[in-house]
Amino acid sequence: MTDKPNSISAKDTTYHLHPYTNLKAHEEQGPLVITRGEGVRVFGEDGKEYIEGLSGLWCASLGFNEPRLVKAAQKQMETLPFYHSFTGKVPDVTAELAEKLVDVTPDGLDRALFCNSGSEANDTAIKLVWYYNNARGKPEKKKIISREKAYHGVTIAAGSMTGLAYAQNGFDLPASERILQTSCPHYYRYGLDGESEEAFATRMASELEELILAEGPETVGAMFAEPIQGAGGVILPPMGYFEKIQAVLKKYDVLLIADEVICGFGRTGKMFGSQTYNIKPDMMTLAKQMSSGYLPISALMVSDGLYQVVKERSNELGVFGHGLTYGGHPVPCAVALEVLKIYEERDIVAQVNAISPYFQDRLATYADHPLVGEVRGTGLIGAIELSADKASKTPFDPSLGMGAGLVKKCENHGLILRAMPGDCVAFCPPLISEQTDLDALFSRFDAALAEM
Ligand code: PMP
Repeated sequence: MTDKPNSISAKDTTYHLHPYTNLKAHEEQGPLVITRGEGVRVFGEDGKEYIEGLSGLWCASLGFNEPRLVKAAQKQMETLPFYHSFTGKVPDVTAELAEKLVDVTPDGLDRALFCNSGSEANDTAIKLVWYYNNARGKPEKKKIISREKAYHGVTIAAGSMTGLAYAQNGFDLPASERILQTSCPHYYRYGLDGESEEAFATRMASELEELILAEGPETVGAMFAEPIQGAGGVILPPMGYFEKIQAVLKKYDVLLIADEVICGFGRTGKMFGSQTYNIKPDMMTLAKQMSSGYLPISALMVSDGLYQVVKERSNELGVFGHGLTYGGHPVPCAVALEVLKIYEERDIVAQVNAISPYFQDRLATYADHPLVGEVRGTGLIGAIELSADKASKTPFDPSLGMGAGLVKKCENHGLILRAMPGDCVAFCPPLISEQTDLDALFSRFDAALAEM
């Protein structure tokens, strides 16, 4: 009989199938084992300290040891550790959270449907588009448009919308011909020579319109869009983009779903990315910073108009036949309620606006660096895109792994960041970051960049 592995590292490489990891390389290299968090920092099992420059996975807005969230979870665990929302029942905190979310989200979003992850919320949104259009007597109107470099999750439907090869290769995704893709509106990368940002936005909207017309507007049900495309490389929309896109969608009666899984709750300097970019969505998906990442929870927000149609249809069918065992679970709901209370008490949006000019200014200094093609960002999110030739914007040969290499060097210097496709390095520090935290973050980044 072989001995069982003793170390955490060996247990991990022996028993754990890792998400978003090169599995073969991982077996040789082993994991970075994280055991503890404090403020904007996490600590390895060897005690090494890291600044979490991506808030974990864009979610730990309140850092890694907010005691009020621990108390909220404990209190809820002691009072009602589980209950569901099926068959007309509901935990008290779940109803409280629904009200609070309707309060904080923009006007026109009137009900919350709870799920456990961003992927589930987006899958649920697709189901509602289909249900809604069946109910409206438009059973053909089912196609869904997302964008190249979009990230909407990994479940079969959400993964079909995620426009990134690494999330689809090998999985037979996209799994449905009902999922279509329009262009990624990254002006720096895809703007033509001499084309203004505004003209680029107009071209993006024309391409969307051409796609809708080619498919037949009577077959197109909805478009999904992140206000800022996060995992695609922190891609900010060009000026005027969402105004133009929304005019096209309105013209052809196509719903717009804002995926606010990363942008929601202050990240962009307003409560929602939709407010930063003048988006008036028919539905909105929320997750991550909704619970500061402390417990899994997500929500799909819908308009009253859509709700009324769904209500009538479910009455005809006898039941609204959708629900997840843990959707609206009382413990994450209690934590999310406390998170929203903290955001309100500390005026998290004002806090982001107070610190973000410093963050963006520091980030902007890298624009002159010979390895950097573009620096972009707003609020407390940003990215640096590496480029082999500044003037021609030529990307590095992907096989060089420049972005991943830089991120590895950052890790050696005690800074966790994430490399995105196209050698973009993303920054998304906790919303509680102070100037001294950002100073430490950038000095570690400087040290890593100097070694490239
Ligand atoms: N939408 C966006 C914009 C995301 O960034 C993510 C995850 N990074 C998701 C959806 C999927 O969320 P989850 O991983 O919780 O399923």
